[in-house]
Amino acid sequence: MRKLNDIKKQKHIALIAHDNKKVQLINWIKENKDCLSTHFLCGTGTTARMIIEETSLPVRAFESGPYGGDQQIGAAIVDGKIDFMIFFWDPLSSQPHDPDVKALLRIAVLYDIPVAMNVSSADFLLKSSYMTEDYMREK
Ligand code: PGA
Repeated sequence: MRKLNDIKKQKHIALIAHDNKKVQLINWIKENKDCLSTHFLCGTGTTARMIIEETSLPVRAFESGPYGGDQQIGAAIVDGKIDFMIFFWDPLSSQPHDPDVKALLRIAVLYDIPVAMNVSSADFLLKSSYMTEDYMREK
């Protein structure tokens, strides 16, 4: 049986961007398509659909963030089904689902999964040697 705290070589990556950050995320994904195509991708509804349209990468779509998608991704982290997250949240506007965003970030920290919240962090994460190795996280 798969151990919950084992981040495998092939990661299960959640991709999320608030509306003002979606173009930035799509551009980053295009730049890193080769690497990302070797992992399992999922995302909140609108983000996932845009990635599929713009990059043709396969992305499992959860509900849209404001309609519960962030909570679904948080639950998937708890279940050990997502072990890596790129979440470009918008630091300049408030969101109707702010409590869900906060809850998702809390779960990601609690379960010790790698999280990038801006382009430079995402670049650093993707260049990590752990991207091509297994890694044991804390929880
Ligand atoms: P969306 O959700 O991808 O459906 O726009 C993102 C979010 O607001 O969390």
